[in-house]
Amino acid sequence: MDFNDTPEEAKFRKKCRDWLEKNANYKDGSSKSEDFANKDRLKDAKAWQKKKYDAGWAMLHWPKEYGGIGASSMERIIWANEEAKFDVPKGIFEIGLGMCGPVMMEYASEEQKERFLPSMAEGKEIWCQLFSEPSAGSDVAGLRSKAVQNGDKWIINGQKVWTSGAHFSDFGIIVVRTDPNVAKHKGLSFFFLDMKSEGIEVKPIRQISGGANFNEVFFTDVRVPDSQRLGEVGEGWKVALTTLMNERLAIGVPKSADYSSLTKAAKEIDINDEPAIKNDLVRSKIADWYIQAEGLKYTKMRTLTSLSKGETPGPESSIGKIVSAPKMQDLASFAMDLQGAAGIMNDAEIALLHSIFQSQWLSAAGYRIAGGTDEILRNIVAERVLGLPQDVRVDKSVPFNELPSGR
Ligand SMILES: Cc1cc2nc3c(=O)[nH]c(=O)nc-3n(C[C@H](O)[C@H](O)[C@H](O)COP(=O)(O)OP(=O)(O)OC[C@H]3O[C@@H](n4cnc5c(N)ncnc54)[C@H](O)[C@@H]3O)c2cc1C
Repeated sequence: MDFNDTPEEAKFRKKCRDWLEKNANYKDGSSKSEDFANKDRLKDAKAWQKKKYDAGWAMLHWPKEYGGIGASSMERIIWANEEAKFDVPKGIFEIGLGMCGPVMMEYASEEQKERFLPSMAEGKEIWCQLFSEPSAGSDVAGLRSKAVQNGDKWIINGQKVWTSGAHFSDFGIIVVRTDPNVAKHKGLSFFFLDMKSEGIEVKPIRQISGGANFNEVFFTDVRVPDSQRLGEVGEGWKVALTTLMNERLAIGVPKSADYSSLTKAAKEIDINDEPAIKNDLVRSKIADWYIQAEGLKYTKMRTLTSLSKGETPGPESSIGKIVSAPKMQDLASFAMDLQGAAGIMNDAEIALLHSIFQSQWLSAAGYRIAGGTDEILRNIVAERVLGLPQDVRVDKSVPFNELPSGR
């Protein structure tokens, strides 16, 4: 891959840059929180997405009829690189645009795509992902929520948990068990549903950071039309895998305080009567995180290069999260230590850089779990990238209702 812009790419980059400079705020190393329980932040996020949509920047690589402009993968990368330099809300649409959109694009009917994809791209309707359950997270195929067919409808009962954004989502994608008599991966089906359907109860979970971004979701006799099934009955696992591979890409490198925020902080904090930035240990740590950030950037480019060749995102996209999530936690922890006693302050009004490191430290542990834990991602890389022997899976071919958890 040639990292230098061609003249056309340079022209496109300038176009992105010009628009962003007129319409967005520069990042000053202290980005605002992504806590969307905060109604103002939710409003800001929707307004930003709509502004991008109206100007044709929302989902560059999507086809025109679904709200994109059919841009090339390179143009998509250039836009993402330029947008990342500005302090703009991002996380709220990650699940919809990064996971639900691609799965709808692949499995929904033409009419459904035309109805749902543009409003998703515009930020008018928000989507969530209803996969995890109290006893099925890493082993999501072990889920117990079930759907039973009744005429042209399915009736869903059960519980999901950790559903990000369910409290403000309009629609969701869900995987449920439709046949308990076959092995766990074979008895699942996949649907999308209206989150305002009768029988859905959403209960936000309060997090250690003070935010409440995810939820428990209860289903009691929720009726979903068969026309909202994505993929064949019993092939929900295959559809879920498309979503999960896109999930690794979508949340590969979360928005976070990086070496640049640490450099800024190190200029303001004193150690032994001089700015911390002059301290060799601090400089060496900043250099380490700079190297990791560059490694992540180029690894992501490798994934995007294979996307540009029309390939599906592969298991190697897991590497981004294996590195970036612990990096977020370590960097935040180091920056808090550097502040001495002030490091325990978590009040954006008074803490250094609006408490960006404190908030990041509180949420980083969650990133190491969301979208596949560190251990699960290592298993994926070991088995599917390095070709090492598989984890032992004794329950793989046993009918679900014969497993202790399935009875
Ligand atoms: C911030 C956040 C947002 C989330 N958002 C969503 C969402 O929007 N939608 C959704 O459906 N889910 C969501 N989740 C749930 C997330 O996908 C699960 O928490 C995750 O898959 C882990 O499942 P679990 O919590 O049940 O842990 P478990 O699967 O019970 O794991 C417990 C521990 O055992 C380890 N472990 C499990 N299996 C293995 C194995 N085979 N080999 C080695 N170690 C293993 C794990 O690594 C972990 O340390 C979110 C989670 C978080 C933290």
